[in-house]
Amino acid sequence: RRGWIEVVCGSMFSGKTEELIRRLNRAKIARQRVEIFKPALDTRYHIEDVVSHNATSIRSTPVPLAQEILLLAGGCDVVGIDEAQFFDESLVDVCVQLANHGSRVIVAGLDMDFLGKPFGPMPALMAVAEYVTKVHAVCVCCGEIASYSFRMAASEDKILLGETDAYEARCRPCFLEGMQEK
Ligand code: ADP
Ligand code: MG
Repeated sequence: RRGWIEVVCGSMFSGKTEELIRRLNRAKIARQRVEIFKPALDTRYHIEDVVSHNATSIRSTPVPLAQEILLLAGGCDVVGIDEAQFFDESLVDVCVQLANHGSRVIVAGLDMDFLGKPFGPMPALMAVAEYVTKVHAVCVCCGEIASYSFRMAASEDKILLGETDAYEARCRPCFLEGMQEK
C-alpha cells in the first residue's frame, strides 16, 4: 500500500477544518478506515469532535502527545490530524512513519502564528509532504484574500485559544496596519 502526506494550511477562518472534513468524508464514502486526531489542549467546542467555524464536525480522538497517534492509528487507510500547529516537532516523524507504512496522512494547521511567524511543526510538515494546499480567509477589514490571523487581545502567549472575539482574518496590508497600531 502506498502512503503519502497532505498538508492543508492557512490562517484562522480559512477553511482548513472544512477542507479536512471534506477529504475525510470522501474517504469514508470509499469505505476506507479513517481516524482523526487533534491535540488534547484544543477544547474550544467539543472534547471529541473536530468542528469547523461553519459547524460541520467529525468524531475525533484528542491526544496529548503526537507519539500516541502512532499507537492508535496503526493500519488506518487515512489518518487526519487537525490543529497540527499545537503538537511539537515530533509530529513530523510521526506523519513520516505513518506514510511510510502506507497511510494517507492529511494534516491541517495554522502555517503562521499571530505574529506572522511559522507555527510549530507546520513548516517542516510542508517540506516533507507530497501535497500542500494553502487555503485563504476573507480579510475582515477590506474583503481581500487573507492569510494572517490578527490577534485583537493583548496577550503575548503563543497559544491563546479563542474565537471571533480574539482573532480576525486579515490580508497583508491590514495585518501590518494592525501590528503598527499596537
Ligand atoms: P479554519 O479551520 O481554517 O479555522 P473553518 O473550516 O473552521 O476554518 O471555518 C471556515 C468557515 O469560517 C467559512 O466557511 C466561513 O463560514 C467562516 N468564516 C468566518 N469568518 C470568516 C472569514 N473572515 N473568512 C472566511 N470565512 C470565514
Ligand atoms: Mg480549524
